[in-house]
Amino acid sequence: MQTIQRTLPEKKHIALVAHDHRKDDLLSWTKQNREKLANHILYATGTTGHLLSKETGLEIIPMISGPMGGDQQIGALISECKIDALVFFWDPLNAVPHDPDVKALLRIASVWNIPMALNRASADFIFSSALIAQSTDIEIPDYQAYLNARKE
Ligand code: PGA
Repeated sequence: MQTIQRTLPEKKHIALVAHDHRKDDLLSWTKQNREKLANHILYATGTTGHLLSKETGLEIIPMISGPMGGDQQIGALISECKIDALVFFWDPLNAVPHDPDVKALLRIASVWNIPMALNRASADFIFSSALIAQSTDIEIPDYQAYLNARKE
């Protein structure tokens, strides 16, 4: 598929998600990065968002809880180019009931090429990059060209 450029703004829309066994780690990372995170617009799945906003005072736009559809809500926002980065502390050691939704979220974040951290080390790399505080271009699928090609 052809690609076009999409500009991620300085003030980014960032989604935060953590599976149950990873929530303490995401909370500790969020506290460590609170100052930087406060410059952006934050979203989170239900339980994660409740915990993070209660413990850090950050304003977070809540989705439904992950197993009830929150991962899919975030995925839908990504495919509408309304999320600019994803921090997803998923659990590689325990099964979750909404595994298909988790895969779908990882897949759609890859399709739309957003910066995505799946563990703490990657989140540190992304947040220590100058690009987190700057506008920057990414390549995304050229959906209009895809539609036009199907009409021919
Ligand atoms: P939760 O969902 O924040 O509501 O726990 C996270 C997830 O499992 O996707």
